Amino acid sequence: MANPTKIPFLDLVTPHQDLEAELLAVVKKAFSNAGFIGGPMVEEFEREFAAFCGANYCVGVNSGTDALRFAFMAAGVQPGDIIVTVPHTFIATTEAISQAGGQIAFVDIHEQTFTMDPEKLREYLETRCEINPKSGELLESASKRRIAGIVPVHLYGQTADMDPILELAEKYNLFVIEDACQAHGAQYFSKKDNTWKLAGSMGKAAAFSFYPGKNLGACGEAGALTTNDEAMARRVRMIRDHGQAKKYYHDIEGYNGRLDSIQAGWLSVKLRHLAKWNESRRAHAHRYHELLAEAKDAVVVPVEAPWTKGVYHLYVVRVQDREAFQAALAEAGIGTGIHYPIPLHLQKAYESLNFKQGDFPVTERVASEIVSLPMYPQMTGEQRSRVAAKVREFVSAKLSVVR
Ligand SMILES: *Cc1c(COP(=O)(O)O)cnc(C)c1O
Repeated sequence: MANPTKIPFLDLVTPHQDLEAELLAVVKKAFSNAGFIGGPMVEEFEREFAAFCGANYCVGVNSGTDALRFAFMAAGVQPGDIIVTVPHTFIATTEAISQAGGQIAFVDIHEQTFTMDPEKLREYLETRCEINPKSGELLESASKRRIAGIVPVHLYGQTADMDPILELAEKYNLFVIEDACQAHGAQYFSKKDNTWKLAGSMGKAAAFSFYPGKNLGACGEAGALTTNDEAMARRVRMIRDHGQAKKYYHDIEGYNGRLDSIQAGWLSVKLRHLAKWNESRRAHAHRYHELLAEAKDAVVVPVEAPWTKGVYHLYVVRVQDREAFQAALAEAGIGTGIHYPIPLHLQKAYESLNFKQGDFPVTERVASEIVSLPMYPQMTGEQRSRVAAKVREFVSAKLSVVR
């Protein structure tokens, strides 16, 4: 840690210093055969990551955004098809929908879990859509567009409530692609199957990002798709490589979306530490819960629903007076973030979709109050206590002014 008095929002330096020798060995290995794209290091990582996620297949790609876009293409999205997701997520979720030719539809999130509210999904599918009597397909009543699929986002490291989402998907014959970009190793308890399941093993496919700040991060750009569906895996392998199943034989137009072998090698090194890192994130989160309990009137800590074992990609609290709160922490050298301040339906990029303030009230309320506190595996107990103490101090100062 460079400056002992500062507590960064995220520390990416320490883990790379800790693993430097192993990471450098990967580079040497790549230099020894100059196989920089694809090859054995990519295949090895794909096998390891599929196993980590409890999925049959993993396909390494260039980013989480690629994984989402390729998943939609491989799932057979046709121009104009609607894909339903939440407005409280990173824009990559919806960029991928549009770029695959789809139309974005939103349903609101659940206030406690920050993830897709299955009841809102049900309401959308049952009151705003209708079955086409000829084709049997589900159409949005207003636009007459076909509903193709659903993208629950496992935000902040907590899974969405998958049982009811999967049940609705099955009822209406829709695909489910998990956006697991923040949820490497997160678990969901399926009441239906009476068992814990891993993020990335529940939908038709799932997208993971290895952007450096994610729970498993590359040293650059990288991502992966996981699936239990062999045809899906094969199709995405083709899409990531210019649509070729065999060199220079292009069955379809694809993308340049492959995973570099050095990144794959680095990811394999880090994957061996991921379970331990996730455990330390969970321990930090549970201690934060305890330390912040006395400030609970003014600071709402994240709720871990009984059906999830979260991996705390972020530790997100809610406060009324966010600007002052962040300023007070910044003054004490404590970094914070906001994930995300502007709901997607109110972004300039989506002006043409004609959404308005009030369309998704839970998302809007949450977006105006959330703050992400420092969270990373290498954070020390002392740093954690200092963050919590500063939060409590802010709250008691504020309450004493009110009284
Ligand atoms: C990071 C992220 C993505 C995109 O991943 P990239 O690797 O940056 O393309 C998509 N969805 C969510 C929820 C993310 O957090």
